[in-house]
Amino acid sequence: MRFAPIRSRRVKREATPTRVGVRARGGAAGARTAGTPGLVGPRQRAAAAVPTIFGVTDTAYETVPAVEPAAPEARLGTIVMKFGGTSVADPEKIRRVAARMVAAREAGARVVGVVSAMGQHTDELVSLAHDVSPRPKPRELDMLISVGERISCALVAMAISDLGRDAISLTGSQAGIVTDTAHGKAKIVDIRAKRIHDALDEDRIVLVAGFQGVSTAYEVTTLGRGGSDMTAVALAAAVGAEACEIYTDVDGVFTADPRLVPGAQKLHAVSYEEMLEMAASGARVLQLRSVEFARNHDVRLHVRSTFTDEDGTWVREEDERMLEKAMISGVTHTVEEAVFEVRGSAPAELFGALAAAAVNVDTVIQIGPELVFSAPLEDRHDAEEALDRLGAAWEERSELGKVSVVGAGMRSHPGIAARAFATLTDLGVEPRFVSTSPIKIAFYVPRTDVERTVTALHETFELSRPEAERQHA
Ligand code: ADP
Ligand code: ASP
Ligand code: MG
Repeated sequence: MRFAPIRSRRVKREATPTRVGVRARGGAAGARTAGTPGLVGPRQRAAAAVPTIFGVTDTAYETVPAVEPAAPEARLGTIVMKFGGTSVADPEKIRRVAARMVAAREAGARVVGVVSAMGQHTDELVSLAHDVSPRPKPRELDMLISVGERISCALVAMAISDLGRDAISLTGSQAGIVTDTAHGKAKIVDIRAKRIHDALDEDRIVLVAGFQGVSTAYEVTTLGRGGSDMTAVALAAAVGAEACEIYTDVDGVFTADPRLVPGAQKLHAVSYEEMLEMAASGARVLQLRSVEFARNHDVRLHVRSTFTDEDGTWVREEDERMLEKAMISGVTHTVEEAVFEVRGSAPAELFGALAAAAVNVDTVIQIGPELVFSAPLEDRHDAEEALDRLGAAWEERSELGKVSVVGAGMRSHPGIAARAFATLTDLGVEPRFVSTSPIKIAFYVPRTDVERTVTALHETFELSRPEAERQHA
């Protein structure tokens, strides 16, 4: 299926096999929660008559010939089960993941499995590349790092066969995942899911290597760090899955990183909007782009533990109950931020240059003649190069981390900012920059203060109390 404007709530097959070109819009700047720039969903009002995807990074390419019809009608009973790196870190864990997929199949579901690379394998491959070459070519880096997911997915398929069920492993390319040409952060533009459907019809469990696809220029691409979440969500949309289950090493989405704040509570339900803010501000349990995609294509996500059968956290549309129960959903953090201070460049020129370099600008602050902006860490080098080309005077603030308070209830409860600022004052922590959205306040603070700021804000908003969590309806 092409990811194009859809009018109904569920993703449906396009009536005609019309193939349309993709138009470029180098737009990288702007609020990241405004929707996936490269994919147009039901939420984006301008549902054009012709299916067209706007805004894929500035890598224009030729229309691809239609080689397969779009995905068949959504079928009941298909689930996508995605397992992260820690869940498949060793042979024993791989066998357990296989058993879990077999159990789901035996309970009647058609199962599409997506797996990440084993343990820290992707990090190891990235550092291997840098041991060989100081600036590996993006194409070759993608060739290398896409391998991790292929290994784990073949191993899970083997383990499933040993349990007496038929399984087939597919690379992203074999699974029909077509992306744009932006190596290292490619966007999915099409999924030709026929092969997956055929295998499911043959009663197989289908394993798809996460984090990768094939570009319209026939190259292997990867989808950005954490990108197996993206593979899972996009496949769930493409095959019309009932749910997309994200199995990970924690029990769900918590009010703060449970590894940092032991009293953090598991949230039973979070709206897409809140999850977007949380993912954008450091809750790495879901990749940001996968949440945007899920929202735009109405994919219900269930984030849960690989190691227990407990219900985890549902990520779905906001409802009244969510708003009533908790003002603040969580306190998120990052310990490293790419923050740049720039002088001597007009904003239009600066952000034009960053957009042309496909840098996703996050926060922007103008202080007199000085422009401050932040970008995702993976865009750091591209931003540095763009700034050098521009000839602007710039400096990177590498000592900063970010602590954010996120909650949909913030819109209707005044005073959150006052309490948050008072907490920082009491701690003696002075934020260097502050950025806000209707449901988030983010403080850029020295890295060394991140941990205690998270803990203090978590306390201020009483997020360790069991009633901070919300029941899934
Ligand atoms: P996977 O390998 O399964 O994709 P990740 O490492 O990408 O797992 O994401 C899971 C991790 O996210 C957890 O181990 C946890 O430390 C971290 N995390 C950060 N913030 C949160 C949060 N608010 N809720 C849950 N997990 C969080
Ligand atoms: N293995 C990839 C990464 O480490 C993708 C993922 O885990 O989702 O970023
Ligand atoms: Mg992850």
